[in-house]
Amino acid sequence: MSKNIVIAIDGYSSCGKSTLAKALAKKLHFIYIDSGAMYRAVTLYFLRNNIPLDDHEAINTALRDIHLNFHSRDYQSHITLNEEEVSEEIRQMPVSELVSDVSAIKEVRVEMVRQQQRMGKSKNIIMDGRDIGTVVFPNADLKIFMTADPKIRAERRFNELKLKGEEVSMEEIFDNIAHRDFLDTTREESPLIRADDAIILDNTTIDQTEQLDFVMEYIKPLLTKTAI
Ligand code: C5P
Repeated sequence: MSKNIVIAIDGYSSCGKSTLAKALAKKLHFIYIDSGAMYRAVTLYFLRNNIPLDDHEAINTALRDIHLNFHSRDYQSHITLNEEEVSEEIRQMPVSELVSDVSAIKEVRVEMVRQQQRMGKSKNIIMDGRDIGTVVFPNADLKIFMTADPKIRAERRFNELKLKGEEVSMEEIFDNIAHRDFLDTTREESPLIRADDAIILDNTTIDQTEQLDFVMEYIKPLLTKTAI
């Protein structure tokens, strides 16, 4: 049996990781896993249940009570939190504002990484996040590190949320992106850094088709090697 292929995509907030990952998953018929959605769903649970972020006992109990599942429909990834579909709610500002604090907690990371590694055991997957190429899958077949100008990232996110009818200002989004980047790159537990062997993709001035073409050049040799 040929070995499964793991593609890791890391990078800053709102720089199009999930858009690229979904397009690749669709093209290659791989499974897409949005690891950020997992941290967001945990954050939603903490918010709803008023879990204090410095209460390790409450956090451990909460982690035992949280059951996350992905359901793939049309290569869009839907996540359930204890059987409830929360894909929309986890993208809203209250979660975005707290998620980087929650994801800096060691117990939370240990549990999420354990679940993510299990998901990548035997299937061809594309996972995006902040520590996928460095911690979750250090032996991934391909690692991509994405970046883009922060202003462009905020604009794209603003347009996305506006389309969904969310009332947010550009300033609020820009500040949230900058804040999350700061927390994600400076935290003690598996901070966001580029793995030494990751290829860099800066998409400030290139469109989605160009990004896909760029990445496919690195993926093609993997496909022929494993002949999937
Ligand atoms: O990818 P997304 O922006 O939805 O992730 C939300 C937050 O979850 C990030 O800002 C980061 O704090 C956290 N995260 C993480 N590690 C991952 C994925 C996401 O710490 N692998």
